[in-house]
Amino acid sequence: MIRLRREGVEAPADWREAVDAAFPDAAAFWKKAKAFEKLTEQGATRKKGFTRYAPDVLPSNRKGKRDLPPVWRTEACVRAAIAGMSRGICAYCQSPVSSTHPGKRGKDRPPGQVDHFRPKARFPAQAYDWNNYFLACMACNIAKGDMWPSGGYVRPDEGEPGSRFVFARSGAIRARKGDEQAKRTIEDLELRRYWLTWHRGKAIERHLKIVVPLMGRPGFPLEMLLIDGPDEFSEAINQNVRRVWANGRRKRKPSRARPRRA
Ligand SMILES: [Zn+2]
Repeated sequence: MIRLRREGVEAPADWREAVDAAFPDAAAFWKKAKAFEKLTEQGATRKKGFTRYAPDVLPSNRKGKRDLPPVWRTEACVRAAIAGMSRGICAYCQSPVSSTHPGKRGKDRPPGQVDHFRPKARFPAQAYDWNNYFLACMACNIAKGDMWPSGGYVRPDEGEPGSRFVFARSGAIRARKGDEQAKRTIEDLELRRYWLTWHRGKAIERHLKIVVPLMGRPGFPLEMLLIDGPDEFSEAINQNVRRVWANGRRKRKPSRARPRRA
């Protein structure tokens, strides 16, 4: 995970109108949604989800089931904006994904999805809040689902999320010691899944192969060898570049000879 900047990611002026138009009675929905979010966060009613709590305020989906209308999916501006924020990578695992569904642009990339950071089933009043949207790959989005443990998950657009995870050269990930929220994020979003770890490890090796021979040469400061901004596995890559760089410096330093005993 790497810090994403939400600046410039804003809902268009007519967003609320488009949302309200998707409900049979928008006022009734908002009232129920707000009341639902006042219930105990980890209580049974919240866990069962909003569709069970207030089906009467929801329209039927294509399968005839009452559900929140997916305005975030039908309005292309949402996906374009959040894809711009993460430069077309999954906000959680940093895999490349397509900003269009099902992957029209960037055909080599699997389709990305609009993830509700706070799941819509548990936080319906935030289902249409742009601050709650991140571009995610299908694997992360499906793994996360409607889960919301007490304390939630690491937010990609707050603080320095990258520093809360440690990436080994093999692509393996772990949480920083004592960071329970980061640990839960890894477990629930399955950030240790086999193929993800494999691709992450390959990306680290590919980058190191290019930059390691440049280390120590004049004109190549560390900053030049790092990836700037969010990119495919950039946090994992940069952590490993820094580690190799630091090890190299230690080796380059002349070791102080200890006085020998006679
Ligand atoms: Zn992902």
